Amino acid sequence: MSKKCIWCATKEGELSVITLDGAKGEGSDVTVCSDECGTQIHEFSAFAQSHIVHFLVGLLVLPALGLIPLFWGYEGLSLLLICGFMGGTMILFPFATPQTMELLGARKSALLARIMGALIVCTGIILMFVLPNASG
Ligand SMILES: [Zn+2]
Repeated sequence: MSKKCIWCATKEGELSVITLDGAKGEGSDVTVCSDECGTQIHEFSAFAQSHIVHFLVGLLVLPALGLIPLFWGYEGLSLLLICGFMGGTMILFPFATPQTMELLGARKSALLARIMGALIVCTGIILMFVLPNASG
């Protein structure tokens, strides 16, 4: 069973297991390569737990509001809002799936989530200009 650092995904060095505080009190054991990575994953985990609601609202609720301009035929604006909310949320709260974190480490998967968020925002901006808007 290959163990690697949850934060930087290295397999080298002195890997040790630390326990992160869980949301409901029970901790989860993670593997880290150094005290530095342990500190980073502690902070990231605390950040994720305190913002998980914002993350879900930004990813699911706000984009739904972006559908509203569709009623007036503003397809471009609607897409811009949906992409802007989703992408912006991923940039602010770069929480990847546990599978991605397992594969890349939390540091790289957070970076990847931010890059994807930025791409989504750019896509929204481009679509806004490409799609014909109802003139009104
Ligand atoms: Zn590490």
